Amino acid sequence: MSSKTTVPIELLRKYDRPGPRYTSYPTAPIWSEEIGADAYADALKTVSSEAEAPLSLYCHIPFCRKRCYYCGCTTCIVTKESTVDNYVDALCCEIEKTSALLKPRRGVSQLHFGGGTPTSVGINRLQLILDTLERSFAFVSDCERSMEIDPRITTTEQLDFLAERGFNRISLGVQDFDADVQTAIGRIQPYKQVASILEHCRHLDFKGINFDLIYGLPLQTVKSFGKTLDRVIAMHPDRLAVYSFAYLPSVKAHQGKINPSDLPTTDVKYQLFGSAIEKLTGAGYRQIGMDHFALPDDELSLALDDGRLYRNFMGYSIQSAPDMIGFGMSSIGYVDNGFFQNISRLKEYSRRVADGSFAVYRGMKLSNDDLIRQYLITSLMCNFRLSWAQLEKRFAISYADYFADEHSRLRDFFDDGLLKETVDGLEVTPVGRAFVRNIAMTFDAYLTDDSRGKKATYSRTI
Ligand code: SF4
Repeated sequence: MSSKTTVPIELLRKYDRPGPRYTSYPTAPIWSEEIGADAYADALKTVSSEAEAPLSLYCHIPFCRKRCYYCGCTTCIVTKESTVDNYVDALCCEIEKTSALLKPRRGVSQLHFGGGTPTSVGINRLQLILDTLERSFAFVSDCERSMEIDPRITTTEQLDFLAERGFNRISLGVQDFDADVQTAIGRIQPYKQVASILEHCRHLDFKGINFDLIYGLPLQTVKSFGKTLDRVIAMHPDRLAVYSFAYLPSVKAHQGKINPSDLPTTDVKYQLFGSAIEKLTGAGYRQIGMDHFALPDDELSLALDDGRLYRNFMGYSIQSAPDMIGFGMSSIGYVDNGFFQNISRLKEYSRRVADGSFAVYRGMKLSNDDLIRQYLITSLMCNFRLSWAQLEKRFAISYADYFADEHSRLRDFFDDGLLKETVDGLEVTPVGRAFVRNIAMTFDAYLTDDSRGKKATYSRTI
């Protein structure tokens, strides 16, 4: 059963600090540029022998029509149609080359399109990519096919096309319904536009419909964001992701269009986050990880109960495949217990693929210690608990011996009521869910390793 969770502002003040989001462990800034295309090809060949194991696929479509001022994604603003055509050609080429190395492994249980704005390339190009994927892989009958959509530019014809091509999950970028906030972030998206797209998604029977919201945006107040949350709750999406806005104009120059004096103070930002948790849990949503919420009958909530939740670069999902293949510029894959990321420059990506190579520019092969900590951090981040017995059985270690130092550093979390010891392990309390990044950081070997950790810059945990 869900019940309202109130997070004390003093705790938000105490624990707010820079830290990883743990969409991967070890985190991307630790990866090495010595891992490239050859290592990736070797990893693909190694896992090809597991012919029956399913795959998870991710396609990155980086294009948008106009850049929103708050955007933190890897995007390109479309200026020439030929640029998009060249990219789609490179993407199809990468799909075919990958599938050839993975043979005979072909089964796919998950497909996700992210961006950018995937539908901005239009139905014909999406069709070309999907035809290539279907020629190259074999999609299992209950494959989860999902896409991120921008309600401002996605048409009902495009949604019909996606449903025909087997897409069954949709995520809508909403951010905030307040008109002044929308002007301040350069993204005008009236409530009616979102409501009409949502209605069509429901008509097409998409499941797990998700809204992305952002707190900490310019001109947001607790009152205005409360109104947005009330409207969202009335629309009853199956899932919500409520992200913190990271204002980094030195890294993302377009964020310079945001007037810094319009940004909420740190204390208001804490209140925005606290009110989101309180309103959404009060309305019956269950908190999934630190910043996701789902209705009790959504499959994410059911997976939380069964300990099957998983977190990767696409957010929370149900793990259905041991290896994930990333296609497209900046995409990330996880193959043979190693991370591989493609280059984030459009021309360079297309050139490398056209030259017959992969476009991987960095990665990391995980050590046994990395795998132990990855398991532990994933377990806390996704399922809010850790079973010592399961960890010990899986890796043939003793938790008490292996993590003696880390465990002694959990004291504050126990004392503040964020974490508790159970008969067989650790459990994050409902209030502690907002601080699960901080708890996970205790077990991150690279945050205390100055020789490697100092390369990293992370957003704040709240
Ligand atoms: S639509 Fe999304 S990806 Fe594109 S610029 Fe706006 S925030 Fe960034």
